[in-house]
Amino acid sequence: MIVILDSDTDETSTEYAGTLAALNALEGIQLQTHVIQGKQKKLTEIYLLGDTQKIDQEKIENLACVERVLRVSEAYRILGRHQDERRVSGFVYNDVHFSQDTYHLFAGLCAVDTPEHVEMMMRSLAQQGQVCTRMGAYKPRTNPYSFQGHGKTCLPYVFELAGKHGIQVIAMEVTHESHIDEITECLERTGNPTGVMLQIGTRNTQNFELLKAVGRQQRFPVLFKRGYGVSLNESLNAAEYLASEGNSMVVFCFRGMKNDAGAPHRNLVDFGQVPVVKRLTRMPVCVDPSHSVGSRDAAPDGILDIVHSAAQGLVAGANMVLVDFHPNPPEALVDGPQALELTELSKFIDDMAACHDFYLQRKSIWAD
Ligand code: PEP
Ligand code: MN
Repeated sequence: MIVILDSDTDETSTEYAGTLAALNALEGIQLQTHVIQGKQKKLTEIYLLGDTQKIDQEKIENLACVERVLRVSEAYRILGRHQDERRVSGFVYNDVHFSQDTYHLFAGLCAVDTPEHVEMMMRSLAQQGQVCTRMGAYKPRTNPYSFQGHGKTCLPYVFELAGKHGIQVIAMEVTHESHIDEITECLERTGNPTGVMLQIGTRNTQNFELLKAVGRQQRFPVLFKRGYGVSLNESLNAAEYLASEGNSMVVFCFRGMKNDAGAPHRNLVDFGQVPVVKRLTRMPVCVDPSHSVGSRDAAPDGILDIVHSAAQGLVAGANMVLVDFHPNPPEALVDGPQALELTELSKFIDDMAACHDFYLQRKSIWAD
């Protein structure tokens, strides 16, 4: 059961204290409070966990500061939509607003290699007015002898260069909970010049202990990759682990499914399910065409398959694109063959913006 409070409820008021006391008095029920900072207003939701069948809904609705009460189905309790279209969705992080109505591009390095390449990437993004990027420091690799990422040693220059170029959010995968501390410490040490969206990679989709650790912290939002070999339902339940621990600032990312049917692409592109996740949950949805397609092959129209796939995701309503770029792909230490080049950045930005506009046009065609 979810108790939705009036927006901008003052948590120091006596009315709020009275409501909280009444809820705390419910026998066998645990409370979990979620504060969602939307663009305009702050929304507080209190989750009643336990056997809520016997609770008198009307009684709760009549408590002070309560706007309404929602009985939720079992699935995706916090992240789910539960047929309530009025619930605020999305979040603001470091002045960037993420929701099922926004669009952001996260173009950047699959793996950080040198400060020079980070600088070139970020300078190009800044010149194009971009405030988000991707930078891999901790890389999960199939082969233990492959480059594993520079880890915490590259964080100081990545964060400082981000600050220098006005980058506000960096998507960065973490593969162990200690990485959250390393990122936090380095941000503090460098004066918080930028922000980080913690990425859960497809190989860790069901690493429940990592999910719990990432969910327990509420400083960083999370970019959650769909598991490449499990059902959509299993991936959505895994994302719910983050929220159940307290962090509902989650973006759900499609990155293709491991399946021979996708060949010659690296994975089977699954962006047709973008609207499904938007319908079942309140999460903003991202597509990663680089790890889905995995090569620079192009169609006879001269447009790369990666670009076509990203376009398909955006035209279907995706809210974010995560894409690999590299200033010199042959020198890239990870995933060079799928990297776009900096000379392609401005065309890519224009194409994606056009696709997002086209989605908005499509939406208005079907509006009434
Ligand atoms: C990545 O984005 O760098 C990555 C490793 O992606 P995935 O987890 O989808 O393979
Ligand atoms: Mn990669």
